[in-house]
Amino acid sequence: MSVTQVVDLAIIGSGSGNSIPDERFDDTSIAIFEEGVYGGTCLNVGCIPTKMFVYAAEVAENAREADRFGVAAHVDAVDWPAIVDRVFGRIDPISLGGKEYREDRCPNITVYSSHVEFDGRDDDGRYRLVTADAVVIATEVVLAAGSRATAPPVIEQSGVRYYTNNDVMRLDRVPERLVILGSGYIAAEFAHVFGALGSRVSIVARGPAILRKLDTDVSSRFTEIARKKWDVHLDAAVTGAADLPDGGVRVSLEDGTHIDGDVLLVATGRTPNGDRLNLGSIGVSLDDEGRVICDEHGRTQARKVWTLGDVSSPYQLKHVANHEERVVQANLLKGWDADDLDSFDHRFVPFAVFTHPQIASVGLTENQARERDIDIAVKVQAYGDIAYGWAMEDTTGFCKVIAERGTGRLLGCHVLGPQAPTVVQPAIQAMSFGLGAREMARGQYWIHPAMPEVLENALLGLDL
Ligand SMILES: Cc1cc2nc3c(=O)[nH]c(=O)nc-3n(C[C@H](O)[C@H](O)[C@H](O)COP(=O)(O)OP(=O)(O)OC[C@H]3O[C@@H](n4cnc5c(N)ncnc54)[C@H](O)[C@@H]3O)c2cc1C
Repeated sequence: MSVTQVVDLAIIGSGSGNSIPDERFDDTSIAIFEEGVYGGTCLNVGCIPTKMFVYAAEVAENAREADRFGVAAHVDAVDWPAIVDRVFGRIDPISLGGKEYREDRCPNITVYSSHVEFDGRDDDGRYRLVTADAVVIATEVVLAAGSRATAPPVIEQSGVRYYTNNDVMRLDRVPERLVILGSGYIAAEFAHVFGALGSRVSIVARGPAILRKLDTDVSSRFTEIARKKWDVHLDAAVTGAADLPDGGVRVSLEDGTHIDGDVLLVATGRTPNGDRLNLGSIGVSLDDEGRVICDEHGRTQARKVWTLGDVSSPYQLKHVANHEERVVQANLLKGWDADDLDSFDHRFVPFAVFTHPQIASVGLTENQARERDIDIAVKVQAYGDIAYGWAMEDTTGFCKVIAERGTGRLLGCHVLGPQAPTVVQPAIQAMSFGLGAREMARGQYWIHPAMPEVLENALLGLDL
């Protein structure tokens, strides 16, 4: 195929990659390749729609629990199609608008709505990028190709119909019985959504706890709570799956038992998309986890090929992808060989799980801190011990802080409870700017009687 276009810059992926071209790139000819829905995972099938569903789930849960506060309320029905319409009625136009903006309002940008792969370099050392019907030559390339949901081989081989985050939010009704494979944050969020909106949820976890990569106190408390409301199978190995005559699906476990559901949701992990770019043809390798190898400036092993986000980052999080995008953007403007390149800052990467109760974390877990032989002080403060916790009748939430004894350096903060991502934010700020636990606790006012008092009290309770 002959060359269709020659560009200065090619961007593979329209998630965080789409934010690179701003007015500083107006004189740069750019090709953006997107094989899926414009805007990427977060906007279309990730963070944003899931949180919009989570909010509906919260509304339902609050109504069910209203009795405890002397308010008579109940959930009459869940209008799932209305919820789906609300979510995608907002999101789909944003995706479409983003694509149209690039196509119609950015004369220097061409959008290719197709899969693309490398096909080595041309005689001038520029990169050949090939789609089904185009060949684009680019001087510089950004890999922003993200990651994809993958199912365990046993499920793939069984041939059963299964859903992932890509399609489960577009089901036409709430399944009566939902079986979820996986026990990470995506599984925990969907269990909350569908459980609160009416499904009987079964979770199949390979390990001994749900969210087991989190701080042990958080993971074990959450697992305990989950077992009370969902059918939780721990240490469970799936040996097979089969379609049932009624249209459902049966998942068989190693212990000889099985779980039947109307819908099977697979949330067992995400694979970086670097394996589908023919990177070998340009000398770029993947690490053992399948991530594109790069340095702290986002430079891959191939000159002028940059990378960011899920395709290369150890953190599959949107705020990290966006941060890395800003670094790569700055570095594109500075030039590959500049000696003042910006760097990824992965020192204190926080994350949240929008399940019920909510969870948020930053920094080291207690076990990680102990493994590093740091002399630590740990304090676990219950929501139930602060005034706002009384108001909410909270009995399970807590804030756990970990700090270095002597210096008071804050090492980690792990919150399980209402508004956990908001409660943890001051700790992220303190750690990022080097504010010690003592100064943080007493060097400012804490609004009384607000939820962050749980963090204040945890800090004050540290035996430093
Ligand atoms: C269900 C779910 C919930 C999530 N919730 C949160 C959350 O609450 N908070 C949070 O921080 N993170 C969350 N995430 C993670 C977050 O969505 C990702 O970390 C983030 O979107 C990654 O951005 P990215 O730009 O690296 O990749 P993406 O946004 O995935 O963009 C990559 C794009 O590249 C395209 N592409 C890939 N290969 C090719 C190719 N060869 N040719 C052409 N196009 C290609 C893909 O189609 C895709 O659109 C969630 C993820 C999921 C799945």
